[in-house]
Amino acid sequence: MSSHYDVLILGAGMAGLSCARRLQDAGKKVLVLEKAPGLGGRMACRSTAKGEWDHGAQYFTASDSDFAAQVAKWQQAGCVDEWAGKIQAWDGQYFSQPGAQQRWVGVPGMDAPLHQLVEGIEVLFEIDIDGIRNLDGSWQVLAGEESWQAGKLVLTMPADQLAPLLPAGHALAVVAASCPMEPSWALLIHSARPIDLPFDGLFINQGPFTWLARNTSKPGRGSEENWVAHASPEWSREHLALTPDKACALLTRAFGDLFHDMPVDNLPVFKLLQMSAYRWRYASSTAAVAEQPYVLSDDGLALAGDWLAGGKVEGAYRSGFALAGALLV
Ligand SMILES: Cc1cc2nc3c(=O)[nH]c(=O)nc-3n(C[C@H](O)[C@H](O)[C@H](O)COP(=O)(O)OP(=O)(O)OC[C@H]3O[C@@H](n4cnc5c(N)ncnc54)[C@H](O)[C@@H]3O)c2cc1C
Repeated sequence: MSSHYDVLILGAGMAGLSCARRLQDAGKKVLVLEKAPGLGGRMACRSTAKGEWDHGAQYFTASDSDFAAQVAKWQQAGCVDEWAGKIQAWDGQYFSQPGAQQRWVGVPGMDAPLHQLVEGIEVLFEIDIDGIRNLDGSWQVLAGEESWQAGKLVLTMPADQLAPLLPAGHALAVVAASCPMEPSWALLIHSARPIDLPFDGLFINQGPFTWLARNTSKPGRGSEENWVAHASPEWSREHLALTPDKACALLTRAFGDLFHDMPVDNLPVFKLLQMSAYRWRYASSTAAVAEQPYVLSDDGLALAGDWLAGGKVEGAYRSGFALAGALLV
């Protein structure tokens, strides 16, 4: 079966949905195709019997005026709020105070603003795309027996994931190849009782971890004592091929070591902790490549995503939003 749209968008993360929202609001017929069973991409949340975790993006900042205006709307709608958690940095010897910053989070999870953006937009989940091709000036997306067609096609996945989809020799392949992504292992921690540490978020500047956060300290979260620790790109690259169980065992040991030299009174009681690990294969980009926060070729094929706009949630929003503007001209 083949359906015709103005714009097809691959990926229901922040870039794909900010693009879809602006296009649909301007009257375009849009379809979003997503590989995963749910939306969110790297802003997705993890939910188990032990509660929820923001296991990807932790918070976002808003420096661009369009994005700040959008954040204000989300805040008014109740799906975003300020995280006033106590943030510290740790260098292995001393705590320090990172620069003051307004930090925003989705409520009740990081993916909440995406649920707001997607309202009324047609999204198909669990689409396993076989390929894309240009057919008489239109773009066609093929998945098993199904196909969809549109004048414009937008790819919003991380560069490493979209590169294999591009037609051989296409000019955009050079852009995609120039921005390899770094992985990140996340350690999800549940404690049977409150952990009393002198911070809610900790930037870690030595050892295997880069970040530790008390998920429960963010607004609108449940009462479960859940924490998230992120491993560094270096550690994650070195241990990329491990099973989640193996990675969890190594990270759990490293988590214990983290506190050895820390001047804290109440160390987490390890027998009360439950840990699991999750691998983000394409977590962050290594290099910015384009002058614009998107790329649009003359044949109607376009790329958007955080990796084209300095990384981060704000960059992803900016990229999708700016691309939609260019497609509307
Ligand atoms: C561990 C971690 C911590 C982070 N911390 C922060 C933070 O604190 N602050 C911050 O601002 N940012 C943070 N980020 C980055 C932030 O999450 C991203 O910048 C942002 O979410 C990227 O959005 P995106 O739409 O560009 O890409 P994504 O969110 O990756 O969306 C791409 C979508 O495309 C889908 N897709 C992939 N392949 C296909 C396919 N073949 N067909 C269809 N769909 C496909 C994916 O499933 C995904 O839903 C973090 C990321 C990670 C992983």
